[in-house]
Amino acid sequence: PSAMREVMVQVPNVGWDDIGGLDAAAEKLREGVELPLKNPKAFRRLGIRPAKGFLLYGPPGTGKTLLAKAVSKEAQANFIAIKSSDLLSKWYGESEQQIARLFARARQVAPCVIFIDELDSLVPARGTSAGEPQVTERVVNTILAEMDGLEELQSVVVIGATNRPNFVDPALLRPGRFDELIYVGVPDKPGRLHILGIHTARMPLDKDVDLAALAERTNRFTGADLEDLTRRAGLAALRGSLKAKTVTMANFETALIDTRASVTPEMEA
Ligand code: ATP
Repeated sequence: PSAMREVMVQVPNVGWDDIGGLDAAAEKLREGVELPLKNPKAFRRLGIRPAKGFLLYGPPGTGKTLLAKAVSKEAQANFIAIKSSDLLSKWYGESEQQIARLFARARQVAPCVIFIDELDSLVPARGTSAGEPQVTERVVNTILAEMDGLEELQSVVVIGATNRPNFVDPALLRPGRFDELIYVGVPDKPGRLHILGIHTARMPLDKDVDLAALAERTNRFTGADLEDLTRRAGLAALRGSLKAKTVTMANFETALIDTRASVTPEMEA
């Protein structure tokens, strides 16, 4: 039995236009990833060491995956995504082999972004781990060795993501590893309006729909919550009539009853 998978390389179809309200995070990624991947010669000429690893942290559903995809697309880089928990194989040596294949493939298809989600599941300590302690330790060490081996300007960048930055193994955060921390938080009111605009762009809205009022009333909603809200509003319109031609403010009112902010005040950094 083998948990080994083919390494899937994609060219993401998410761009900056699909992301609302994360201007500061987007700007940091642009500068840190897009600029060096697109202009390696300029970096070499000036002797600048570009970062190899970025850690996106913040509550679930705030757009971390979207950001990683968008920066890859805009940098015209390939994109390989993996969940940390998928790397934890109990078969001896298999995790290491899988990581080696992951990085080998990334070098082959460079420029390439490797996206590692759920980075916090690689912590062996205190029963928080999905895997066994020895396995997670070997996985972390293998990732570190691979990242240390990435030569500067080799055009492979690693982006990690976590909802629980406090649980990320400190060894992963040292210089030359995931040394750029980028907070991806819940959107503020203008951010929510932007996101509502994105997710209703292909929705025929009745003229009574007031997105600004909806943005006002959706404090602490994440991007994923807002997407859910627009979807539910659409469904409410269909429930009213299968012949519905527009989605109305009343449909959004119905949707609001069923949609809650998934982020509580305590979860905010
Ligand atoms: P997790 O931590 O659970 O992996 P995440 O932060 O990676 O979550 P995404 O997978 O990027 O979240 O977002 C989930 C979905 O929510 C997206 O596909 C998108 O539809 C919507 N979404 C989240 N954030 C935003 C945003 N800032 N702008 C537009 N849409 C968003």
